[in-house]
Amino acid sequence: MKDDLHRQLGLSRAEELLLHLPLRYEDETRLTPFARLHSGLTAQTEGRITHAETQRGGSLLFDLEDEAGNSLRIRLLHTRPNQRNALSLGARVRVFGEARPGLYGLEMVHPRYRICTAATRLPTTLTPVYPSVAAVPQYKLRLAIDALLAEVDLSDTVPEALRPNLPEFAASLRFLHHPPPNADTALLEARLGPAWARLKLDELLAQQLSLRLSAQQRDHLQAPILIDADGLAERLTREFPFSLTAAQARCIDEIRHDLAQDHPMHRLLQGDVGSGKTCVAAAVSAIAVGSGAQVAVMAPTELLAEQLAQKFIHWFTPLGIPVATLTAAVKGRARTAQLAALREGTARIAVGTHALFQDEVIFQNLQLVIVDEQHRFGVEQRLALRQKGAFDHTPHLLMMSATPIPRSLAMSYFADLAVSSIDTLPPGRTAIDTRVMSSAKRDEIILRLRAFCRGDAHTGGQAYWVCPLIEESEKLDLKAAIDAHAEISAALPEIEVGLAHGRMKATEKAAVMAAFKAGEIDILVATTVIEVGVDVPNASLMVIEHAERMGLAQLHQLRGRVGRGARASTCVLLYSQPLGAIARERLNIIKNSQDGFEIARHDLRLRGPGERLGAKQSGAHLLRFADIEADSGLLQQASDIATVMLDTQPDAVERHLARWLSGGVERLNA
Ligand code: ADP
Ligand code: MG
Repeated sequence: MKDDLHRQLGLSRAEELLLHLPLRYEDETRLTPFARLHSGLTAQTEGRITHAETQRGGSLLFDLEDEAGNSLRIRLLHTRPNQRNALSLGARVRVFGEARPGLYGLEMVHPRYRICTAATRLPTTLTPVYPSVAAVPQYKLRLAIDALLAEVDLSDTVPEALRPNLPEFAASLRFLHHPPPNADTALLEARLGPAWARLKLDELLAQQLSLRLSAQQRDHLQAPILIDADGLAERLTREFPFSLTAAQARCIDEIRHDLAQDHPMHRLLQGDVGSGKTCVAAAVSAIAVGSGAQVAVMAPTELLAEQLAQKFIHWFTPLGIPVATLTAAVKGRARTAQLAALREGTARIAVGTHALFQDEVIFQNLQLVIVDEQHRFGVEQRLALRQKGAFDHTPHLLMMSATPIPRSLAMSYFADLAVSSIDTLPPGRTAIDTRVMSSAKRDEIILRLRAFCRGDAHTGGQAYWVCPLIEESEKLDLKAAIDAHAEISAALPEIEVGLAHGRMKATEKAAVMAAFKAGEIDILVATTVIEVGVDVPNASLMVIEHAERMGLAQLHQLRGRVGRGARASTCVLLYSQPLGAIARERLNIIKNSQDGFEIARHDLRLRGPGERLGAKQSGAHLLRFADIEADSGLLQQASDIATVMLDTQPDAVERHLARWLSGGVERLNA
């Protein structure tokens, strides 16, 4: 029985139920006299039945009288005959429910009840209410959890000296499941106070320990030392039509230092949309190629891989370095040739999608793996590419992400991950004027596009018209884009309107993108396929439909497609009515800020604690209790404790991880 319960709640081991903590509590430790009840008060009370009558549909109505002689009417819906028999005149009944005004004074409708005697004892602690699913009633959960509290070894894994300010694990857990009647339930429900702090600390500690263990394992792995003695990276960056920003140069230096070590790099390069991560990736690739290694650069979509490949080919071909492209679009003979070039080592860099880690792809000497938009890949996919290294060496790994988290947090949170941040944008970026408008203005905006686009690519503007995923269905998404394309083409016959979406053949899509880049297309209607990485500097206007339904990070990424050229740029966020207060606030955040870090912060604040910072980026399991931002003090403490425990208490480390990580350490080992 117990065994089923945890599975129904999505937990893999019964003991995990111990960490299934209450959402709130009910006070069944005392009885409220009828005279003290008032409308809206949820309370427990007790009395004797002085009147009972069965009504139509099996409802039962009865009156209770308490010690003081006051009465309270109770209505139970859909009672069974045996219930009605038990609830007869003179029976003593304890009820828990909300008092409401009725026709003849206060009443309770369908309260929880039990028949009792004057001697039936009251619980001495508050009653926990657990998060649950319909099939699992609270009483079963309480029974199962109480049994575990009695059976399971709850002895402490963290020595007292290392947590002077926090209570014991067992005491904290018992307190949270069964707080005393005088406990501050508002505080507990907000997940605050010493007992909660202890649980959060333990959770963060488990994460720190497992990440550090995997980092230690990596330190034992051998990786090639990549030095770039002939300065290929310098030659490459000299060819860029701009000089690197100080932030880019610093990141390249940090990575260069890692590549010169004999164990594999494990580094995250984060930078806001448009901060210039691709150039850094190219420079870093040059360091590896200059050291005789091969490099694989992986992007999450065909379109992005395509664009990345174009840039790499553009940069590396003049230096005499062949770049292979591997996407689903590369087929037949071309594919065979690319595969041979990688196997024989004539191609030094491979750019592609997840096609890169298929079995048929064999590298001659892969020693650096770069993953763009890393949060879009699963842990397994990143690891699979790593397996492609030479048999005695693990390739260095660089992950890139435009979904930023504050650097200091990232450093302590990803205990096993080095982080480089490109924290400034290249100079000369034009601010994007962002406007929030009702979709009632849609037709008007389409007509205004005519004036905006008139002229050739050098004098006329180019625009994106984005139709995001509005239903959980690719088909509808597609339909919105196809409809908008037809509509805009019809309204503006003299303007070239193109269409790009995820269902198009990669070659078609690439052709449309190329035409847009060349200025042959004025308006590109697209789904969110253009979300990341697409780079057309002359495009300076973006209209986004249904902006209210999109995530802020995604809006920010989309908007980052404009504001890349000399022209003043505008982004119009269209929303459909009615717009709720939070939705409006979210759109205003995008309107008022162009700083990805700041936007991410606000986004979290508005989304509340449900989605935790960092979970997506890390590929690690979600933190259930702690919030690395709000609990940064505990995070620091967990990090310090981890250092000491790993040094001096290997057994406690084992026990701690066994308690907290159901899938074992491997789960975080990426
Ligand atoms: P990200 O991948 O970080 O979003 P990209 O690498 O695509 O950004 O760069 C965005 C744009 O900025 C590109 O057009 C690129 O050529 C340009 N860029 C990158 N670095 C610089 C720099 N140091 N100075 C000027 N422009 C730059
Ligand atoms: Mg990019």
